[in-house]
Amino acid sequence: MKQSKQQLVKILREIDNKSYPLYKQLKGSYDMTGFTLFIERVQGDPFASPSMISVEVTPEKADFPKDLYDTMEKKVALEDQLLRQFAGELRKYSFQAKGSGKSGFMGAVVPGPEILKRTGCEISNVGAVRLRLEAGFPANGRRIQSRQLEKMLVEFLPRVVSNTLYYDKTKERQYRQVAELAEDQRFIRGELKKRNLVAFVANGAILPRESGVSSRPMKQAVAFESPKSLEITLQLPNKGEIKGMGIPQGITMIVGGGFHGKSTLLKALEVGVYNHVFGDGREYVITDESAVKLRAEDGRSIQQVDISMFINNLPNGKDTSCFSTEDASGSTSQAANVVEAMEAGSKLFLVDEDTSATNFMIRDELMQKVVHSNMEPITPFSLRVRQLYEKAHISTILVAGSSGSYFYEADHIIQMKEYQPEDITEMAKAAAQKFAILENDNRSLENEKVSELLIPDFSKSRIWLKKADMRDRVKMKVMGRDSISINKETIDLRYVEQLVDTGQLAGIANIVWYIRTHLLSEDMSMTEMVNQIEELLKTSGFEKICAGRVPGNLTVPRRQEIFACMNRWRY
Ligand code: ADP
Ligand code: MG
Repeated sequence: MKQSKQQLVKILREIDNKSYPLYKQLKGSYDMTGFTLFIERVQGDPFASPSMISVEVTPEKADFPKDLYDTMEKKVALEDQLLRQFAGELRKYSFQAKGSGKSGFMGAVVPGPEILKRTGCEISNVGAVRLRLEAGFPANGRRIQSRQLEKMLVEFLPRVVSNTLYYDKTKERQYRQVAELAEDQRFIRGELKKRNLVAFVANGAILPRESGVSSRPMKQAVAFESPKSLEITLQLPNKGEIKGMGIPQGITMIVGGGFHGKSTLLKALEVGVYNHVFGDGREYVITDESAVKLRAEDGRSIQQVDISMFINNLPNGKDTSCFSTEDASGSTSQAANVVEAMEAGSKLFLVDEDTSATNFMIRDELMQKVVHSNMEPITPFSLRVRQLYEKAHISTILVAGSSGSYFYEADHIIQMKEYQPEDITEMAKAAAQKFAILENDNRSLENEKVSELLIPDFSKSRIWLKKADMRDRVKMKVMGRDSISINKETIDLRYVEQLVDTGQLAGIANIVWYIRTHLLSEDMSMTEMVNQIEELLKTSGFEKICAGRVPGNLTVPRRQEIFACMNRWRY
């Protein structure tokens, strides 16, 4: 039952100076006129992680014009914007109230440049705005300082709420901009499909970041300019005409000297699966949303994956059609990454030679002559890349700085020269042809003897984890961007490079635990389980997955990263 603001103040005053656990009785909801305050979890002491609270603004007070959030994309973009505003404003009040430990802390999730569906802010169908935050309930030692908490909840919070979560006509232009960008980005994604493209990079885009640890655009960067041969023109519904490079389906190679911007372009394509905020420089860099970055990942665990399209006839006789290891090599790990990405439904692979296992990518002609192919268990990616496209409709964009082997396979070859792309397809193809004749090279596709590509059967169940009891207490931890730990089992996600924020890891932790407790079964393939998760997320967000207690720091991950996490969960 909802209590009044006066009742909240009354309880607060009664417990002042008393022992900290008495704060627990604040759990509940309070009518703050204009919004409801939910005190969801109360910390055990002033040094523990802060208390979880949330506010829900009534549709009448929030009053955002319906057309700012009448599509999925616009809604996510508006939620993202409100969370940014709220978190930014709230920060001004953090630690204004005083006390020991985390007393007085107030914080909401501060999003990075990606616009993602987060539990931090959610707009309901009728237009109520739910905002989740954390607050350090103040104490002096272990004695309650409730006058300080009163300041936080009754004075600061309502101010931040009314400043940032009530529709403000003077900010109309900004809100419009957010909605229009979301619409344009959605439009570009649609055009990719219609025009059989896998990515679009607008002229004028700023791809490099300020530094390796910053996500801000580099100042004085060279703006992107498409080669004429690949340039397309789009009529965006709001921004109007825009030109840029359209990368067609098929096999695209990005070459060029070191430091000329190859990896920077690939990186922008990797995160182009997400929409970016205005001012990021990559607002109009849009990649097929199923794209997966593939790299070597020595030491990862692999469980029951059919990697036989790449690896066969191992000297130890191990079966590679259902391959498991706790400590994969560079090439086996990359092979597994490819097959698992196929299972996760990826239609575009992104590969950088810099982070690949050389023996997985190519076998050069001299090596072929010396070590006969029947003594080599690896069928390199170069011999499968064309088949993957033709048989499984999976395109590849590959950065190569030192190996020309892919010239034969590539449909398009782009050279980065001083950060600018040039289309060198014809020149490079001609050079490759000449080279093949001169060297009597047998690598051109006609001569290559490569077995047929057999796509693994992904409808089979792959179960190596034990089903967990959902009544068990679970302890989840997220270690930054790097890994998650669930009941002391650590899942290393460092090399799942398209994870961009810790919220995605927190979201994934909850999801894989739900799979482990609710879905795991011998009659279900991984695909079916992840499909069920996506259905749940669509209909009820994290509500069911988190058994009703949704923290404010979760981000909805892509299905590809859910697969990636399940696949790295050690036996
Ligand atoms: P490569 O992969 O070709 O060796 P990188 O993409 O790693 O090169 O880029 C090399 C350096 O150049 C990086 O420090 C990057 O920040 C910088 N850089 C990349 N693109 C641009 C650009 N468009 N303008 C200015 N600097 C850039
Ligand atoms: Mg590089």
